Amino acid sequence: MKKKIIILGSPGVGKGTYTRLLSKEFGLPHISTGDMFREHLKKKTELGKKAKKIVNEGGLVPDEIVSEMVKHRLAQEDCNNGWLLDGYPRNINQAETLQSFTKVDSVLRFVADKKVIIDRLSGRRVCKKCGATYHVRNVPPKSEGICDKCGGDIYQRKDDKPEFIKTRLKIYKKQTAPLISFYQKRDLITDVNVNSEYEKRYEVLEWIKEKFKD
Ligand SMILES: [Zn+2]
Repeated sequence: MKKKIIILGSPGVGKGTYTRLLSKEFGLPHISTGDMFREHLKKKTELGKKAKKIVNEGGLVPDEIVSEMVKHRLAQEDCNNGWLLDGYPRNINQAETLQSFTKVDSVLRFVADKKVIIDRLSGRRVCKKCGATYHVRNVPPKSEGICDKCGGDIYQRKDDKPEFIKTRLKIYKKQTAPLISFYQKRDLITDVNVNSEYEKRYEVLEWIKEKFKD
């Protein structure tokens, strides 16, 4: 089985949900750059300190630091059988660095129609207190406006409002286009259609499993 897998997908395709499910199914660690950063900051590692300083000064964490963190993470024991990498690489430079220290077996790209994505994002609600996410129709909280997990208030993030979603999608497309062609040239991309309803997510999962069978 091909197990070193990069996850791609625009905001609103449900990439996070599917990656969590796949992680369980395949028994592979879900490595997200967000979690990785938090871990480094918490442990106050050298890389974490460097990154924090740059962010505090208003800068973006440079590719070298992110790549170093990923390299370090992928060398850990739980990655021996493979991994699901989410949020990296973000550009060609990072993609080339990744190639220099590991093999990539496959790139799973979650795709959905614009209409579907806009519906999902504009229905998304977030808890102010704990960050849990809901959807007005698909995953509503038990009582309206109140978080099931912590009782906090649920609200709509500004960039989930319809007028901002289109801009976000445009930016995403422009930023990832070079990455897509990078992996297309290497014949690594598998498109996963996630237009179907949330209830059908296990069918999508089965489809992916079938694709990745030995
Ligand atoms: Zn909450």
